[in-house]
Amino acid sequence: MPDADPLRVSAIVAGGGPVGMIAAIELGRRGIRCVLLNDRSTTATHPKANAISSRTMEHLRRLGLAAAVRARGLDDDHPTDLAYFTRLTGYEIGRYRQPSRRQALVEAEAGTGRWASPEPPHRCSQLFLEAELKKAVDALPSVEVRFGWRLEEFHDRGDCVTARARDCEGGGEIAYEADYLIGCDGAGSGVRAALGIELMGEAGVIRPMMGGPMYATYFEADPSAGWLAQDPAWQYWILNPDIRALFIPVDGRDKFLFIAALGTGDGGFRDPASMIRLGAGANFPLRVISAQNWTAGYALVAERYRRGRVFLAGDAAHLFTPTGGMGMNTGIDDAVNLAWKLAAVIGGWGGVGLIDSYEAERHPIGVRNTGFASRFADSIGGMPVGAAIEEDSAAGRAARAALKPLVEAHAHYEFTIPGIFLGLSYAGSPIVVPDGAERPPDRPNEYVPNACPGARAPHARLGDGVLYDRLGPGFTLLSFGGAPDAEPLFAAADARGLPLSSVAIDDADAREVYDADLVLIRPDHHVAWRGNSLPRECGTLLDRVRGAD
Ligand SMILES: Cc1cc2nc3c(=O)[nH]c(=O)nc-3n(C[C@H](O)[C@H](O)[C@H](O)COP(=O)(O)OP(=O)(O)OC[C@H]3O[C@@H](n4cnc5c(N)ncnc54)[C@H](O)[C@@H]3O)c2cc1C
Repeated sequence: MPDADPLRVSAIVAGGGPVGMIAAIELGRRGIRCVLLNDRSTTATHPKANAISSRTMEHLRRLGLAAAVRARGLDDDHPTDLAYFTRLTGYEIGRYRQPSRRQALVEAEAGTGRWASPEPPHRCSQLFLEAELKKAVDALPSVEVRFGWRLEEFHDRGDCVTARARDCEGGGEIAYEADYLIGCDGAGSGVRAALGIELMGEAGVIRPMMGGPMYATYFEADPSAGWLAQDPAWQYWILNPDIRALFIPVDGRDKFLFIAALGTGDGGFRDPASMIRLGAGANFPLRVISAQNWTAGYALVAERYRRGRVFLAGDAAHLFTPTGGMGMNTGIDDAVNLAWKLAAVIGGWGGVGLIDSYEAERHPIGVRNTGFASRFADSIGGMPVGAAIEEDSAAGRAARAALKPLVEAHAHYEFTIPGIFLGLSYAGSPIVVPDGAERPPDRPNEYVPNACPGARAPHARLGDGVLYDRLGPGFTLLSFGGAPDAEPLFAAADARGLPLSSVAIDDADAREVYDADLVLIRPDHHVAWRGNSLPRECGTLLDRVRGAD
């Protein structure tokens, strides 16, 4: 460790990808002093995620960032269809229509969309999301943002964590002492390795697509050069006997991401430009910006999300096959869940049970979501592609006609997944008070709005506004109609320093969905408790939800 006295912060966030930046933003907005270390000097330059979930957009809305992120990516009227081709210049096999950004927002406003949320999914590259998050975190005075700095080592001393960070360029060092460390350092997490935590689950699954060696190329090309299908889409999947691949427009202009399965033998690696031209079925000028090998076929979850004062979040805690677009979105939900709890404990009103509840709530979601992603990968990865698929013949037409319903049903299965992102629940958590109500079944494609304890607080439109925008930064008590006086709850909250605000709602539809006169919502917008009257011991209730009982 360096000789100088360590710098004292409340939290160290190791890793400045999307998950680490969200963790730092959540902590920083609550005034928690923390340092964000990222070994790369910039945000990502090679695009990975393209699907920002409805739930992530809701978090960004709460953080005041949704509009800025929503403005990035494809143009307002670019459809977000899933389209399946033999090759881009070959036959279109099938298409699953999805709304453009403009349409999706109109539908969300009217309540007619497929997502019961004011924030429908947003099809936008991780490149742009990270750029917006970086601006937001840079603006927070309580966060010391150190890009180009690597976490070299750390030690959990029992009453604090000490750590050493190194400047990746100049070699300078800083020693830190903190209450907590969050490892958001990605798939190869050094924090996870140092804690001796294993990944458990499925690895090495081989499929024709999305299972085994993959190659991702970020490239630039003129879309009017005759290689791109006329009818625009968000994802252009390629299925033929030579190559299985995927084209995704990144900026709506001339930048694209190309993802190909490398297969084995003759189907294996070619130089990136050749693979792109093989998928397009055309020879056209292009410039490779960056390219990366990666491996699909993982559904792995860390056996533990915490050891002592050190936590794991994001890819450090779980590894997905990217079908369904869930790795980053699940990681962002981890960071949101953890940050308010750490802030509560550091702020003196959260109990130790709050910290334990992070793993209790998020580990099952990691297992659930990697499982869903793996089933999506089985579905698209094993799609049967006959030898005749590209033929201009009766056999070719029959092969394409047979595949059409399969790819379109698959597209619905993989991409209309409100059950996964909006239906997640922390029922069974030690800091959630059950009320005996039966929860809707956990199905990926179906979300039944409900406020069963543990559920994400369901969306409600109130006149011209949105319920979420009226919730406070701490806990919020919703009271419907003539709900009883909540003064005893506020007195108990005051006595514990627990931040509590209230929102009175006079709306029969919202009351029906929430199904109780009083509902206590957590800072991460999950339902902690509900009832038609206050419990006799309000303090006991609050001690439960703040992890202090
Ligand atoms: C082709 C592809 C498509 C994908 N599509 C989607 C999608 O549509 N939706 C989705 O949700 N997910 C998707 N994902 C997954 C998503 O990209 C990842 O889940 C996401 O990047 C994880 O974010 P993270 O912050 O946990 O980790 P990372 O993005 O890996 O960030 C970790 C950061 O920590 C830094 N770091 C590492 N070690 C240290 C250290 N010792 N000190 C300091 N810094 C360190 C790294 O340099 C990096 O900047 C996709 C992935 C791939 C490969």
